[in-house]
Amino acid sequence: MKLIKAEVLGYCMGVRRAVTMAEEAVKAAAGVHRVYTLGPLIHNPQVLEQFRDQGLEVLDETALPEDLTSSIVIIRAHGITPHLESILACKGARLMDATCPTVKKSQIKARSLIHRGYRIFLAGERYHGEVIGIQGYAPSCLVVADPGEARETAEALYRSAPTAKTALLGQTTIAPDEYQGIAQAIHAYFPHLEIIDTICKATRDRQYALRKLCPQVDALLVVGGKESANTRRLLAIAQALGNQAWLVERAAEIPPGIRAYPVVGLAAGASTPDELIDRIAKAVTNRTLIRENL
Ligand code: SF4
Repeated sequence: MKLIKAEVLGYCMGVRRAVTMAEEAVKAAAGVHRVYTLGPLIHNPQVLEQFRDQGLEVLDETALPEDLTSSIVIIRAHGITPHLESILACKGARLMDATCPTVKKSQIKARSLIHRGYRIFLAGERYHGEVIGIQGYAPSCLVVADPGEARETAEALYRSAPTAKTALLGQTTIAPDEYQGIAQAIHAYFPHLEIIDTICKATRDRQYALRKLCPQVDALLVVGGKESANTRRLLAIAQALGNQAWLVERAAEIPPGIRAYPVVGLAAGASTPDELIDRIAKAVTNRTLIRENL
């Protein structure tokens, strides 16, 4: 059996930056300050476990402690709303902002469009942290998950405000063809729609590398967290292209029959650490390792 890795895979710039910031914060604060992340730092259970062992605690934004004085709170790469930021500051937290610069750009753009009188459509997953964070900068924006929802929402807006100035922003991890479909649906009602290119280069690169890999393989493993939007997107793309594909978080999840395929592809989401990618690659090519990792 032959294993081919995607040309681009694993940690993106934003995730690497957030992980490095958290490592440094944990080291610097050892025994002096408590260090928290607001929600899980990244969607990868193994990395989160390692951080937990080093003393990094995860805060639930719906149950924040009364007093965060002398605590460090790391804002993760997805970003948060300005409202939540001020709540944390009022509780005395020292904020360390690991919002990915690409996400930050979307937040700032959303705020500026609202100030200039635009109605914003935001294409993405309604309950994803990044989308919720951007909504905090543009509270009146209309979140649309797919072209059908975009059509319905645009039609409703057209009925109440046919001359509205409109703009479209997208979650950084949305697939370009999906974004295009959503843009077309809105464009039918608002021909002057301003389409802002918010898709992250890291996302494009990983999706492009995956599309290139798919025709070369008989089966494909996408390594990454099941909660990770960009990892799930990679899986969906591979399956839409007709590939047998599985999302695996750990070696124990590698399908037992994988070695029956002559050529297996390996892709990984933007929050997947190199060590995990290597471990899965070794396990796939070594039957003994698959058993050891069970
Ligand atoms: S996928 Fe892109 S936007 Fe998201 S954290 Fe990584 S670099 Fe930033």
